[in-house]
Amino acid sequence: MLRYDLHSHSTHSDGLLTPTALVRRAAERGVEVLALTDHDEVGGLAEAREAAFEAGIRLVNGAELSVSWRDVTLHVLAFRIDPSCPELIDGLASIREGRSGRARRIGESLAAAGIPDAYEGALKFVTSERLVSRTHFARFLVEAGHVRDTKEVFHRYLVRGKPGHVEHQWATLQQAIHWIHVAGGRAVMAHPGRYKVTPSGMRELLAEFRDEGGDGIEVISSSHTGAQTAEFARHARAFGLAASSGSDYHGPGESWVDLGDMPELPGGLVPVWKDW
Ligand code: AMP
Ligand code: MN
Ligand code: MN
Ligand code: MN
Repeated sequence: MLRYDLHSHSTHSDGLLTPTALVRRAAERGVEVLALTDHDEVGGLAEAREAAFEAGIRLVNGAELSVSWRDVTLHVLAFRIDPSCPELIDGLASIREGRSGRARRIGESLAAAGIPDAYEGALKFVTSERLVSRTHFARFLVEAGHVRDTKEVFHRYLVRGKPGHVEHQWATLQQAIHWIHVAGGRAVMAHPGRYKVTPSGMRELLAEFRDEGGDGIEVISSSHTGAQTAEFARHARAFGLAASSGSDYHGPGESWVDLGDMPELPGGLVPVWKDW
């Protein structure tokens, strides 16, 4: 079986490596099929494709779309999309549009908690003027000495109930799935174990996702514990959803799991790449 890693980020969103450096690292680590899945963005795919050709690995055109469902933020992965599809391009632009204003509000919220100039500080870590994310604030908070590492940031700041959290409206689940499908792609629920929903809420989410045309869920993820992997493998079988696997790599020193460093999919699942 080929070695797949279907979730990674570059400097076109909140990753630390350029598309070229990311692809080279994946190839060196034995990844044979890599999906670049930048947040709300397909701008890195052309460079990644060229690098993948040179490195002799396969690149999957991907993206990770930000979605609001009830009061939860979800991420939906897109695989094998046509990055030149106008409807997808417009959809992604509409998701990105709100990010700058949101970042300013995050800055104001941190200022109110006694951390001034965080917006300007975060901008210093931004590597694509098209995309500012909480990750850039996290890097600023670490550099400014407010926390030890980016993992700790997301316990003490930037999450609901903590300084630097602001509510934000992303795309709807229907919109995200529609844009992905119009662009010829497959829609996969990213790291479902991360969402703070009750067990029945999760079943409702997965049922709605499937009924809207969603294709799969990310069973293997660096965000998942072993128990969550088993849980989402069961959900994938029960809901008739395909299974995916990805490291969600963001860069050296920042990610739990390096490119390609995942266990195999549990048995009895249909891999999302079955017909690729
Ligand atoms: P945003 O899309 O601006 O809300 O930023 C979300 C990004 O923040 C994610 O893609 C991760 O890169 C990062 N992030 C969120 N939660 C965590 C966490 N608990 N630990 C580390 N990084 C996180
Ligand atoms: Mn990220
Ligand atoms: Mn995500
Ligand atoms: Mn991701």
